[in-house]
Amino acid sequence: MTITENPHAALLSRHRAVMPQWLATYYREPIEITHGEGRHVWDAEGRQYLDFFGGILTTMTAHALPEVTAAIREQAGRILHSSTLYLSSQAVDLAERIARLSGIPDARVFFTTSGTEANDTALLLATTYRKSNQILALRNSYHGRSFSAIGITGNTSWSPTSLSPLQTLYVHGGVRHRGPYAHLSDAEFTAACVADLEDILGQANGQVAALIAEPVQGVGGFTSGPDGLLAAFKEVLDRHGILWITDEVQTGWGRTGEHFWGWQAHEGSGPPDILTFAKGVGNGLSMGGVVARAEVMDCLTANSISTFGGSPITTAGALANLQYLLDHDLQGNARRVGGLLRSRLEAISAGLPVVREVRGRGLMLGLELASPAAAGVVLEAAREGGLLIGKGGRAGDALRIAPPLSLTVAEAEEGASILEAALKQAQSELG
Ligand code: PLP
Repeated sequence: MTITENPHAALLSRHRAVMPQWLATYYREPIEITHGEGRHVWDAEGRQYLDFFGGILTTMTAHALPEVTAAIREQAGRILHSSTLYLSSQAVDLAERIARLSGIPDARVFFTTSGTEANDTALLLATTYRKSNQILALRNSYHGRSFSAIGITGNTSWSPTSLSPLQTLYVHGGVRHRGPYAHLSDAEFTAACVADLEDILGQANGQVAALIAEPVQGVGGFTSGPDGLLAAFKEVLDRHGILWITDEVQTGWGRTGEHFWGWQAHEGSGPPDILTFAKGVGNGLSMGGVVARAEVMDCLTANSISTFGGSPITTAGALANLQYLLDHDLQGNARRVGGLLRSRLEAISAGLPVVREVRGRGLMLGLELASPAAAGVVLEAAREGGLLIGKGGRAGDALRIAPPLSLTVAEAEEGASILEAALKQAQSELG
């Protein structure tokens, strides 16, 4: 078939001609997804896939969830956008719910259109509040693609420039499986990271504004330090008046099963000062936001606005989505089904040296593979078998599993079986 007779090949060729070369895509032949339902999506040729990546952790509850679709339809029939210059009852409803859920006392909420814009805002707040452009971030981190978010991102494969307006100091703490502290116990690892933090603070040039950290590193390959590490960090931060920003763009809304927010695995020293969210809350709509103590949120004295942040259409969809999540205890489902899936992945991996580690909790599970090439083979083979998964890690050598939180046990079993075959293929091809 020539390119003119093959619509998919023609689309790919037009995509390559008009989109930036650096725009990330998965697969040798990127898939054109046309629709979805529940935990499944379909491509333009009618092939069905079980979605173990939830879009990109954006489909939090389920694809084409009728409750969310109805809320969006209803809102679209009235008005798409009016702007934050006017009041919106559903924006206030959603902000109140998120403020209550956040665990941050006296919280205020600002809506954005993405995780990047949320982190950008958090950095704006922290640097203004503290009158400092120095930020602490974790090595291997990812916080978005604006100029400032790239500047603090520690994972250099997603950080195309070092010309940042911020001065970033990187600390250990997000990665257990490699690096100088890999052999340490949890308690030793925490102590070593705290010592590293104190050491770097000793080198800081005046005061530091904030530490930003993903409780579980997303793009970094679903890695994290031990529970309580960020609480231990907070004790040090509090002594210096440094703010703690928790980037919950991937870890929020019960994805990790045990906690509603990732930071709650580090609760010991109290809540963070600033929390950022995005991805799943809108179930695919462009919704993000920042929660902060009123004193921190209101440190900005000039007017500010995000034109599309908290628009009627996104807040209507997000409210319905959040309601469904809470009514159906999808956090509990993530804990139960994620626990079963993790056990199954551990059993599968036991006989396959190509898998170096199975990690994660809830429906945020990672597999560290022997090489980026192995991850590439598994991704393609899983796709052939009808399963979509994500990649990540420092060099693309980790697999990421993050399905919609409504995943059933039968779907978990089905996905694990497809993954098993794909891993065996990588094992036999690459040894
Ligand atoms: N923070 C984290 C932890 C992320 O994983 C991402 C995106 O993957 C972002 C921020 C940026 O979010 P967005 O792509 O919505 O701008």
